[in-house]
Parts: sequence; structure tokens; C-alpha cells
Amino acid sequence: MTKRQPADLIVRGRIVTMDAARRIIADGAVAVRGGDIVAIGEASAIAAAYEATTTVGDGGSIVMPGLIDAHTHCSQCFVRTLTSGELPMIPRIYNPAQRSLDPEQAGQTVRLIATQLLRAGVTTMCEGTLNRSHEDAIVAAVEEVGIRTVMARGMADQDFHHAALYSQVTDRSWVKAREGEAERDLAHTEDFLGRFPAKGRGLVRGAVNVSSLLGFSEHYFREGARIAQRHGTSMQVHISRDREEVELCLAVWGRRPIERLHDLGVIDRHLVAVHAVLASEAEIQLLAKGGAGLAHSPTECVANMNAVPNMPRFRAAGIRVALGCDNQGNDMFDTMRAAWLIHGAKWGVAAYDPEFLTAGDLLAMATIESASVLCADDLIGSLEVGKAADLVVLDGNAPHLLATHHLPSDLVRFATRGEVKATIVAGRILYRDGQFMTVDLDRLRREAAAGAAHVRAIVEERRYKPFPAF
Ligand SMILES: [Zn+2]
Repeated sequence: MTKRQPADLIVRGRIVTMDAARRIIADGAVAVRGGDIVAIGEASAIAAAYEATTTVGDGGSIVMPGLIDAHTHCSQCFVRTLTSGELPMIPRIYNPAQRSLDPEQAGQTVRLIATQLLRAGVTTMCEGTLNRSHEDAIVAAVEEVGIRTVMARGMADQDFHHAALYSQVTDRSWVKAREGEAERDLAHTEDFLGRFPAKGRGLVRGAVNVSSLLGFSEHYFREGARIAQRHGTSMQVHISRDREEVELCLAVWGRRPIERLHDLGVIDRHLVAVHAVLASEAEIQLLAKGGAGLAHSPTECVANMNAVPNMPRFRAAGIRVALGCDNQGNDMFDTMRAAWLIHGAKWGVAAYDPEFLTAGDLLAMATIESASVLCADDLIGSLEVGKAADLVVLDGNAPHLLATHHLPSDLVRFATRGEVKATIVAGRILYRDGQFMTVDLDRLRREAAAGAAHVRAIVEERRYKPFPAF
């Protein structure tokens, strides 16, 4: 018998690879060394070839790529139900609550959200940051906890005014760029990408945040897109999210939001259209033609009551879709199921078409397709040799995962974070059997309680209704 090669970790179970062939290995194993996957195959073959100090999982486990939350803002993590029943609320409640956090509190929100995500088998999040003073604290907390992060940074450089419906007799919407700010902030993004390259093995990958047509100038959009192209990273843009935005674009430019992006020449495969719930058919075609991806947060559609994007049209046009929690629950099993149910109710039931979205589609939108949208499929999103060892191990013997017929459907329809046994990022076990290796839960509870009290005091005056009494 030849000598076995050393590995740091062997992960065993039924393996849903999400590779190009969508291979499922019934009794498989993954060998991990130096943070990467060095072998994947039949359990017996891996056991014969590799010797590891640690083994996770057994024949009853289900092993899949770590889930990817393609859209979040960590600093919203303390607000949560303060927004419920208070629509519309983003400028009134979310934004002031986020702005009120100091860097230390921003770091606390990262620890909290990362802990929630790891518990639910999420190994990568995509964070959109608008506050430069929070950036170092966010990165420090990400590195402390060990969750992989695509960090899109960028600060608004434009003032805007939206003339509300009943004021339009005398008032008109406008935008005005603040001189020199785009250059200064984009130089900071270049510097950030120098420290946190968009390619390579780093835990944090930089990306470009050009959050909206309202707050970012034409110059910022054009240059931001060039930076994203040059670095091979994504450019995150909230687009066609609400009626006010569509209305402002029509008033200022005579164009709908995605038409405006087309005019700016920024629709390409690096563009991540976030939400796009009010995209018209012509705008969906513009995104498709340019090769842009969509970041879709199904629970957010209901939480903010904006609209539900026409998912069958996006899919039929060939647009890649990434699912995100957008801080609504921070659980991608929940999010996959929300997408299944929302689109099922809206498009599947309406057409009596069970193929409105397949389980394989939904699983891809939380793994490999999401990685592609984030320009990170060279490293994550599937279990393949050479990729990072970002995995989640589920208890496949849990009663409500029985009886198994088709693993992708079982995972989308029935799996919950309750079955997550281990969450592994870059070969490091960060969560296992109720234990978080990099998080002090007592400290987390203290920080969450203090953070909740802090944002509650900030938004109290801003709510239309008093806080519920009980
Ligand atoms: Zn967002």
C-alpha cells in the first residue's frame, strides 16, 4: 500500500458538488489542505489516499458548498423589527440608525450577522458599505470571525431631491454632483482593492459599491465600472427598487433606471443589479444583453412591500441570479424557500407551471451562480479541487430530512439551519455542533442588547407609531 498523503481535514457524507456536471456523490469525501480542496471523490478512495488529523461528517451527513448571502448591509443588523409596520422606512429609519453607529458598533454588527450566517451554513457574505469610517472595523471583525466576505465599498458623491407626487405642481426632482468627491472616493476604492484584491485566496475581496443613481454621480458610475472591469470584481448597484427612484430617473433624465445605466455604458458582466424589482421587459433585455447579474432578496420584497421581480423573465433572458438575505433573517435556507414560495405563488400557481424555478436553480442561486454574479466563482460556489474549502455539513439523518429521494429538492424544500452540523471556511471549522470557534456568545449577547437599545433611542422619534406596548 502506498503511503497516504497528509490532509488537514476530511469531510464525509453525501456530497452535492454544484460543479458543472452537478455531480452528487452518494458516499463521498472531501480532502482539505491549506484551506483548499485537494481531492473529492468516493469516500473509500479518499480514505485510501489521504490521512487527516480531523474528520467531520459521516455516511449520513450531507455536504454542500458553503452558502453565499449575495446582499447585505451589516450595520442594519441592530435595527431589525424596528422597521416593521413603518413603511416606507429606508431613509427614515434604516439610514439614520446606520449612520448613528460608531466604528466599534459597526464591528459588533459584523460579529452578530456573521454568527447568524455561520449558524445557518453561510460561508460568504457580500457586504455593501457606504460609510468609510466603518470600513476598518468591518474588515477587522470579518477577519476575527473568519467568514468570507466580498466587500463592496463606496461613498455617495451626489445630492438629490425627489419631488413628491403632490408637490410636483411647483417642485421638480434634481441631482447635483459634489465636485471632486468621486475622484477622492474612487481613489480610496482603488486603495482598498490593492489591500483586498478581487482575485486570489484572501478572506476579504474588494468590490465597487455604486449604491444608487440617486446618490452617485454620472462620473462615479463610469469610473466605478472601469475599476470593476480592471480588477475583475463586481459593481453593486441598487436599481429599480421603488417607484420614487423610477420617477426621479424619468424626471431628471427622461429614462427609466436601467435605461439610464445603459446610457452610462455600465451594464456588463461585472454589474450586479440589486433588487431590480421594477425592471420593465425592455430593461430586463438590457441587463441580459450586457451580461449583468441580479441580486435578489425575496424576503426583502415582502418586508419592504416594493414589488416582486418577474423571475421567469429574468431566467428566460439568461440572467444570472444570486440570492441574498438583505438582513431579513440571515439564513439562506429560509431565503431559498422564500424565493420558491414567492415566485411559486406569483408565477408558478398563476400559470400552473411547476417549472417556474427548479430546486437546482434555487440551489445554484445560493451557491455557484451567486459566486459567478459576485465574480468569485474562481474560488467559491462549488466543491471542486483547487477551490477554497468552504463547506457546510448537515445532519442527513435528521427526521425531517427523511425520506430522501432527490437531494437538491430535499435541501430547498425541507432543510433548515437546524440540521447544520458544521460550517467550514477556508478549511477552518468555525461552527460545529452548537459551538462557535471564533465568537464569544456572552459578549455577542451583551453587544446585541446594547446595540438594540442604541438604535431604538435613535429611531424612536422617527417612527409614525409608538413601539408596541407589550
Ligand atoms: Zn442593499
